[in-house]
Amino acid sequence: MTTCLCCNGEAKHFANFQNKNRVVRRFRCVRCGKTFSEPQPLDGLRIETSKVNEVVRLLCEGVGVRATSRLTGLEKKTVLSIVETVGEKCARFHDATVRNVPSVNVETDELYSYVFCKQERNKYADPERGEQYTFLSFCRDSKLVISFYTGKRSWENTHTHIHDLKDRLAGRVQISTDNYKGYKGKTGAIYEAFGPDGINYGMLTKVYTKSALPQNRFCQPVCILAKKTPVLGNPDIDLICTSHIERQNLNVRLFNRRFTRLTLGYSKKLSNLRHSVALFVCYWNWCWKHNTTKQTPAQASGLTDHAWTVQELIDAVSKPEVCTI
Ligand SMILES: [Zn+2]
Repeated sequence: MTTCLCCNGEAKHFANFQNKNRVVRRFRCVRCGKTFSEPQPLDGLRIETSKVNEVVRLLCEGVGVRATSRLTGLEKKTVLSIVETVGEKCARFHDATVRNVPSVNVETDELYSYVFCKQERNKYADPERGEQYTFLSFCRDSKLVISFYTGKRSWENTHTHIHDLKDRLAGRVQISTDNYKGYKGKTGAIYEAFGPDGINYGMLTKVYTKSALPQNRFCQPVCILAKKTPVLGNPDIDLICTSHIERQNLNVRLFNRRFTRLTLGYSKKLSNLRHSVALFVCYWNWCWKHNTTKQTPAQASGLTDHAWTVQELIDAVSKPEVCTI
């Protein structure tokens, strides 16, 4: 039985209409007389499914919002509403499906980006503007992005991210991080989430040469020392490494226009940044075949048995049972 959206009374089917994608059933409430349509897979989006597919594929291959709008002939606003709708659903889908991950080696890092303006220009210290960090936790073997979170690099956000990571793991893991103070020590997020014996935690400290001369400001500083420190449990020293997550950070910059340095492709709103990270993570986990493993990260982790197409991903994230989680 369909229930009324206003009074929860019984509603009866009385008509159909055809939108761009499908025949939509209309209902009328027996009690209050209100009429309404059945829920649509992509909520309020009234665009052909094939166009949504095209936009998502472009956005996940590093094309910016305006360029996507020019290439597809859609309004910029429409592209942004696709980012919003699909991104929100992707975040829910990730939350529901990436659980009990059988990972043994996890690397965690945070990735710099900014919203609306650089931090120095954020005069009123608006928490939704200025620098924003994307925390990523990544399985070194299957390349699965297990957990992600975007926000300021604060104690609370680091803890939120590490707790979320803990909830998604099936067993004991070894985790490697850089020496950011939010992770380490007894007040750090990893000790607080996993306790003293719940994890093998190693930290990699890299020491670089002093900042480059002004004329060489785009040159990489040279790493002169890399020190591996066991912090909690009994980590394998050889496996303390952050190279894979650093490479993954580069993938985020390659696949997302808004993370590309030295361009105008930055985010204007924090919510859009979050949606686009969720979209990227789902695309990466379920659709992207990795060159080393020759399969998608979700396949390598045993979450699915084949590489998904973008259309399969959109269909999966827009299922009603995922929308209600
Ligand atoms: Zn009603």
